[in-house]
Amino acid sequence: MTREVYSERPLRAEYRLTRRGHGLAPIVITLGRFGIDELGRPEPDYLAAHVGCGGRVPPVAWRCQRCGEAVDANGLELLAPGDIH
Ligand SMILES: [Zn+2]
Repeated sequence: MTREVYSERPLRAEYRLTRRGHGLAPIVITLGRFGIDELGRPEPDYLAAHVGCGGRVPPVAWRCQRCGEAVDANGLELLAPGDIH
């Protein structure tokens, strides 16, 4: 994760996943599934996307909501909400 300050007063910083962090996407998505199943959460706090497509992939079914393609662990990445289509 990287941290970039974009305002000193008030102090504001933006956090972004590094390339290595993006490699953890399948694990984080699985944790989201755990949160839904075991903790009763309606949705995880992050958004997973289809690599190369940008479509959202919900943890309840590894299928891209944009193109409809089934996605495996290698086809997942984490994106900021504004980057999801
Ligand atoms: Zn897609």
